[in-house]
Amino acid sequence: MASGAPTANHCSRDLREWLTHLSATDRLEVAKLGLGLKYELAAVSQRLERDKAVLFPGPDGHAVPVVANLLASRAWIGDCLAVSEDEVIQRYQDAVRNPVPWVEVEDGPVQAVVHRDVDINAQLPVPTHNELDSGPYIAAGLMISRNPKNGIQNVSIHRCQISGPDRIGVLLLPRHTWTYAQLAEEVGEALEVAIVIGVDPAALLASQAVVPLDFDEMEITGALHGAPVEMVKCKTNNVRVPARAEIVLEGRVLPGVAEPEGPFGEFPQYYGRQANRHVIQVDAITHREAPIFHTIVGGGMEHLLLGGLPREATLLETMQRNDPAVLDVHLSRGGVCRYHLVVRIAKKQEGQAKNIMLGAFAGHYDIKQVIVVDEDVDIHDPESVEWAVATRFQADQDLLVVSNTQGSKLDPTTTDDGVGAKMGLDATIPLAADEFTYTVIQVPGAGDIDLDKVLDDKGAAAAIIAGDRRGN
Ligand code: MN
Repeated sequence: MASGAPTANHCSRDLREWLTHLSATDRLEVAKLGLGLKYELAAVSQRLERDKAVLFPGPDGHAVPVVANLLASRAWIGDCLAVSEDEVIQRYQDAVRNPVPWVEVEDGPVQAVVHRDVDINAQLPVPTHNELDSGPYIAAGLMISRNPKNGIQNVSIHRCQISGPDRIGVLLLPRHTWTYAQLAEEVGEALEVAIVIGVDPAALLASQAVVPLDFDEMEITGALHGAPVEMVKCKTNNVRVPARAEIVLEGRVLPGVAEPEGPFGEFPQYYGRQANRHVIQVDAITHREAPIFHTIVGGGMEHLLLGGLPREATLLETMQRNDPAVLDVHLSRGGVCRYHLVVRIAKKQEGQAKNIMLGAFAGHYDIKQVIVVDEDVDIHDPESVEWAVATRFQADQDLLVVSNTQGSKLDPTTTDDGVGAKMGLDATIPLAADEFTYTVIQVPGAGDIDLDKVLDDKGAAAAIIAGDRRGN
């Protein structure tokens, strides 16, 4: 494993299990008491985002500590799912294919303390992350909602602006929570929701699965955990929440209400702008004894990693169904783990790469660029991918551009409604090419050399430079 730490022997099933494991493997720093919630906490988290998780006790004097950077690399994802880094996509796909329903329990630690007089900023340490953010945001809350028609729950993550003591402004993109809110609004009702803060990374990853409406993502968490998630009913509504979470805000998305939300620093490294958006009335906050508040710095490593892997897993599955020549996919870090996809294929037919690109564009509207490469390219290494483009791609023949498609609304180059172009690069070797032209150079034995056996000690250089001709 890249981090050098041992893989966990089972998937952590709550935040504290994961923090205990991180601490035991020297990946959990603790900040000095009382750092600032505005920018300072995010600044420290950002500096450590590729190396360490970090706990912030007493932020701005608040009794509740904050934790950030639960995931710092792809290797950590493998660790939290108790598999090797190479197996994370497969493990995740298995969980999506074999969901494990949750079970309801009577009570749980997350309801040890109940606040019915809600004052979010007084009761919870909510940080402000990026320079132009409108203020404090709950950025790592699982939003659990119920389909008002059939009671099936949805789990997703939305940015939640603290708009008042018991009021949250929320961005609901037109997906599942938004659909449930529409169904409620059509009959003039509020949508019951819960915002769950402080869960294990598997639950966060499960929430990002690209699955159909009315597929409860908590069942993916159960599959990743290898055990049904225990859920308790909220105190003020019918939503069920993980019993071992740290903190829950219970509330309602108000029908027919829209108030300013944003700006907020987002995954493309730009701000999502302010607009009138949905509003959640918070009716109660429940939490564990001595809870821990998790935050995700907008646009940071953890944010990107959480978005990347679940999309890779879904895209790979869809694309392999279309064409078994697809071997692997990767959403690159430079492409903000969403926009740029690299696909590794075992090419059998000319033109195949372009069909595969079209399938990728259809697989998720966020995908803007697809590079298709042969089996010998390391798709997790940007240099290897660039080498393939440099030596196996000619723009007048191998470039595909599709204009006026739906793209990401957060991509600043799209128009207001997210319309933009798709680009595909076929960087595979033509099947008709003669073998010698594309024979990759190699030095025989380079990979097997034991340097300790073949290198002399450092002092030998001075002697040779001075004229020593050994063996002569
Ligand atoms: Mn969903």
